[in-house]
This record gives sequence, C-alpha cells and structure tokens, in this order.
Amino acid sequence: MNEIVSLNIEELERLILSYGESKFRAKQLFEWFHKKMIWDYQEMSNLPIKLREKLAVDYPIMPLRIVEKLESKLDGTIKYLFELWDSHIIESVFMRYKHGNSVCISSQVGCRMGCKFCASTLEGRVRNLMPAEMVGQIYAIQKDTNERVSNIVVMGSGEPLEELDITLKFVHLINAPQGQNIGSRHITVSTCGLVPEMKRLADEKLQINLALSLHATTDEKRKAVMPIAYKYSIEELINACKYFINQTNRRITFEYALIEGENDSEEDARRMGQLLKGMLCHVNLIPVNKIEERNYKSSGASSVEKFIRILEQYGIPTTLRRTLGADIDAACGQLRRRYIKKRGE
Ligand code: SAH
Repeated sequence: MNEIVSLNIEELERLILSYGESKFRAKQLFEWFHKKMIWDYQEMSNLPIKLREKLAVDYPIMPLRIVEKLESKLDGTIKYLFELWDSHIIESVFMRYKHGNSVCISSQVGCRMGCKFCASTLEGRVRNLMPAEMVGQIYAIQKDTNERVSNIVVMGSGEPLEELDITLKFVHLINAPQGQNIGSRHITVSTCGLVPEMKRLADEKLQINLALSLHATTDEKRKAVMPIAYKYSIEELINACKYFINQTNRRITFEYALIEGENDSEEDARRMGQLLKGMLCHVNLIPVNKIEERNYKSSGASSVEKFIRILEQYGIPTTLRRTLGADIDAACGQLRRRYIKKRGE
C-alpha cells in the first residue's frame, strides 16, 4: 500500500511509460500526491479514467487516518495519532512558532535504540515507515489544520538514520518543487548517533540540520542511558559531527535532556564545554519529560541555569527548549502507548 507515493518523478515516469501512457502523466500524478496532497485516484480529474482504474488495482493508496487529536489550550500545539493502512499507530506533533508552523514526525513505528528515558522504545521497533508515510504525516496535518507547515523535525518515534535511504528519499520528496517545495534548511533530522550513517549523510552534502542526542558527557554515563553508546564512543561521535560540519558547513545541534542527579552537575557542564568548544554548534537543553515507566526527574531551575552559564563561558550558544503543549502532556511515544494499551495490544 502507498508504495507509489514514495516514488520520485523519474520513477513515476518509468511506471507511467510501462502503461503505455505519456510521460507528462507522471508529473500530474506527483502533483496530486505531493502538492494537492490527494491520495485518491477518483479525485484525479485530469488523468484518464482507464489509467486511474489500473493504478487503483496495481498501486492501492490510502492516506493516514487521524484516530486521535489533542489540542493544547495554552499554545495551540496539536498532537496527532495516525493509523497506518496496516493498523499500526504513529504519532506526530504540530507546533506553532512565531517563525512559522513546525511538524515533528515519526520515522519508524516504535524504535529499537532502547534509550532509557524514552517511551517510544519500550516495545522495540515494529516496522520502518515508508517515505510516503513520512510525508503523509505532514500532508494529513496540513489538510487538517488548513495551515502551511514551514519546518519539519524528524524527532518523533524512531531512529531516522537507521534506514538512511528511506530518510533521504523522504527529504527529496518534501524538497521537490513540484510538491511541497520545503527546503532542506527547514528540515532537522535527529539521531542518537549512528556514526557510519552520519558520515554517509555528510557525504550527501544536503543542507539539512543535524541534531545529535548527546545526553551525557562520558562514555560510561552515556552507556547508562543510551545503549548505542556501547557501539560508538563520544569521541567517535564528535569526530563524525566534525566531519558533517566540514562536508556541509552546517551547524550541529546537540540535544541534551537534563536529568536530575544523572547528567546535570557543574562537572557535566564543564566536560560538555570542553567537548564542544570551538565547534560550529549549538546546544539545546531539554528538561527531561517524565514517563510513567521510568524514574527520571527533570533538573531544578537552579541547576539548569548553572548549566547554561557554564556552557556560555565556553562560548557555546545554548538554549533551553520551551515546553509546548504542557497541558496535553504525552512526551515522545507516550500517546501511542496509551492508545495501543487501550486497544488491547
Ligand atoms: N532517534 C532519534 C530521534 C527521535 S528522539 C534521536 O535519538 O535523536 C528525539 C529526541 O527526543 C532525542 O533527543 C531524544 O533523546 C529525546 N527524548 C526522548 N524521550 C525524551 C524524554 N522523556 N525527555 C526528553 N527528551 C526525550
């Protein structure tokens, strides 16, 4: 299902030619899928009925279905739960900022990276998403809100670099001038730190933003919260980041969830300052979101302030992530978990 929506124009052209139709039909089809965001052949009025009928049989399509929607009364943030064609559930978030609307999408159903503070990974990875299902989250949200999305963060459930080809295909689809035409500079991909894939991504020389989930300043401490740290050391990670910066000239964002008593000491801040000083980067501190299954508490205001001040002493631009949608709660992966529990899975 929906494989056809993952195809780029050249691939669609090949498909259309194999039906004995003119090449320009591919562009029309692409515009229906990606510009008008219509995933229903019946509505594609400028395509021959015969072709539409054949496509409907050979390449069935079905848009993502909204099964739940929670809207914050504080800031207009909306959390969506979508059902995919095979009844799996994923979540996405729509956020309103002064500089435009932003959507946070999932890259996989569940996740197998096992980060201790994250709810998305508690039951492992169910399956990858297709590029169509990644853009599909953005289209469904734009249609539902009737508002344009200008920024995309791939920071929902899943590890987007695990199947790098899928993520690259997603970026090219959403970049396409014949579709949504959202530039790479408006796309952020967040990774727990898969070193070989970070290097491969760097070699693509895309102008996307890369965010690295660091969360600790020594290998030992990182291993305690992120199993991926057993595979790649912080030194290897920092080198991969430097390689990315060299190849792309883009600034890296380091994400760091502050967990009380775990990684929020002055010593941690100084170690982080040493690690990152002089790099083209930016630190985004996130008060850790509590999940019911784990016992982590977010750091108090005074440790947060101290942490920021120390990083600034090292000349590292640092921001504290604003909490949006506080009244609708549900951090990364929690909404989905609650829903599938209710459904009895
Ligand atoms: N797998 C990718 C992207 C998905 S997670 C990655 O690891 O970056 C997106 C971000 O949310 C990561 O920085 C992750 O560490 C963070 N995150 C997950 N659960 C969180 C929680 N309970 N509190 C704060 N940040 C969390």
